[in-house]
Amino acid sequence: MRQPKVVHAAVGQLGRSFGALLLFLAASCAAPHSSGPNRFEFTEPQMGVPFRIVLYAPDKPTADQAARAAFGRITQLNDILSDYDTDSELSRLSQTAGSGRAVQASADLWFVLKRSQELAQRTDGAFDVTVGPVVSLWRKARREKRLPAPAKLAEALKAVGYRNLVLDPQCHAARLLVPYMRLDLGAIAKGYAVDAALKVLRARGVTRALVSGGGDMVAGDPPPGKRGWRIEVAPLDVTNAPPARFVLLANAGLATSGDLFQHLEIDGKRYSHIVDPHTGIGLTDHSLVTVIAPDGITADGLSTAISVLGPEAGARLVEKTRGAAVHMVRMPGDRIEMAESSRFKRFYEAP
Ligand code: AMP
Ligand code: MG
Repeated sequence: MRQPKVVHAAVGQLGRSFGALLLFLAASCAAPHSSGPNRFEFTEPQMGVPFRIVLYAPDKPTADQAARAAFGRITQLNDILSDYDTDSELSRLSQTAGSGRAVQASADLWFVLKRSQELAQRTDGAFDVTVGPVVSLWRKARREKRLPAPAKLAEALKAVGYRNLVLDPQCHAARLLVPYMRLDLGAIAKGYAVDAALKVLRARGVTRALVSGGGDMVAGDPPPGKRGWRIEVAPLDVTNAPPARFVLLANAGLATSGDLFQHLEIDGKRYSHIVDPHTGIGLTDHSLVTVIAPDGITADGLSTAISVLGPEAGARLVEKTRGAAVHMVRMPGDRIEMAESSRFKRFYEAP
């Protein structure tokens, strides 16, 4: 088999270069200082994935209490934002679809819905949290290893469209205009959750912290004596892959979206868990998108949106977002393409 040649492309030269397929993210931190604060690490299952908190604190009780409060906040957000839990605030809102009722949202749900709709408008619906009916058909398809029936997809698509989710900014209420609409915040809720958890830690005086969960993370102040949290952006799986690279993250969010772990493969074609809301079809161009942004919710939303938009439109979106940068790897057909925005380079640790 021919080995792909590895070349990094700047935005503007997107598309034709080859590169390694996979980024793998891991955080590594400084060793504890004997005189300064100590490093503590916590992991807990939250929102269906392991969430991890790494923090520096003067002592164990301070660290334990802060982590417990942060995880508690994530649990609270899951109760509000989950589409798996039929009793969550989000699910209860979805159950009013087509009834004509406007439902007042909690501050958290309102914030996430508002940010979602802003991104939907900016991407002309490539990012769309009303994809629920279609996503649930693809989840079933993955379980049964069978493509969704076209007629069912067409039916589900009738209930998809961000313009049918109407937000009233006066009273923070939401109305779902079409019957069987179902909201899915899977593309943005974890980013918000890591932000919220970091906020809890900061409120307790723990500012040197990293919170991550399911491809989304946010960093607070760096570890003592460091410029940032060292996050590995490493290729995998390809023989002549470029060496592992690291970014330094401080007071910023980072999110990765891709179809590497969640996809359906039928007749050699791989369908992502991310769908194009205009067609209802899972993406097939194997992509891995890493976004750095001022906070977790921005990074999370953008990484999913760019997965749908593709490199050119995705890069334009990132360039127009303050403080955002993107690194993309795609494999349309048997070609491997890699590209990143100029700002992403600033985050690389000096070799
Ligand atoms: P992420 O891993 O952040 O890219 O989010 C992927 C999840 O977002 C999927 O598992 C779906 O629940 C949901 N989703 C899929 N496609 C879209 C889309 N085009 N816009 C918004 N959410 C989506
Ligand atoms: Mg996302």
